[in-house]
Amino acid sequence: MQHLRSLGALTPLRASMARGAGALPPRPCSVGPSARWARGLFATARAPQNEGVPMPNRSAGPGSSTVPHGPGHTSETAMLTDGQALVAKTAEALYLTEMMRGMALTMQYFFQPKVTLDYPMEKGPSSPRFRGEHALRRYESGEERCIACKLCEAICPAQAITIEAEPRPDGSRRTTRYDIDMTKCIYCGMCQEACPVDAIVEGPNMEYATETHEELLYNKAKLLANGDRWEAEIAQNLKSESMYR
Ligand code: SF4
Ligand code: SF4
Repeated sequence: MQHLRSLGALTPLRASMARGAGALPPRPCSVGPSARWARGLFATARAPQNEGVPMPNRSAGPGSSTVPHGPGHTSETAMLTDGQALVAKTAEALYLTEMMRGMALTMQYFFQPKVTLDYPMEKGPSSPRFRGEHALRRYESGEERCIACKLCEAICPAQAITIEAEPRPDGSRRTTRYDIDMTKCIYCGMCQEACPVDAIVEGPNMEYATETHEELLYNKAKLLANGDRWEAEIAQNLKSESMYR
């Protein structure tokens, strides 16, 4: 040491060389307990090739280890830590601590306000832009809005709409057939956007599941009946969205 100090301050490189030559004692371990424990496991897994690799003590506090890195230490410490791990695992299995923690979490949420709905008795709010079941609307006088321009039929990407039309005796043009194959519809809303008189709309109704394919082939009477049934909600939704259209 004296002759080394006489050379000046010990740099890390010089100190390392001095330890290798046996002139300095082994450097104490300065890593944390988790890293030491992981290193111990690694060394245990590699035994017996790693005979002599120092095993850390998991029970030691941070920075309190005196386990040296030098040779000459056996895996006694590792065996001790493995034994402690076995005891901890056994205690956890015997006393069902994980199950108790799970039950505690369940009880914690049991007394908190419910976030689920009792559907179909309870229903959540839906957006005014929701695109549900189709409907054909009427004016307040009862007259059909649709003027048979066929824009909706032309724009429908699924070709789900079929329209036939002819002039009435009073000269107005109205549809004689307005069919939508709801099994083809992809609910894109383009028919609603294309309609110049807000006649065809996608209403708020989402509860129209059926058991047969035929029940989803809507004709004009069915669409007008939908419009009569949902007119109040449809009119309110269109009004709330009017400034964005
Ligand atoms: S919502 Fe789209 S796919 Fe359905 S009928 Fe209208 S345009 Fe066609
Ligand atoms: S529903 Fe609208 S877009 Fe379709 S034919 Fe009638 S008026 Fe034209």
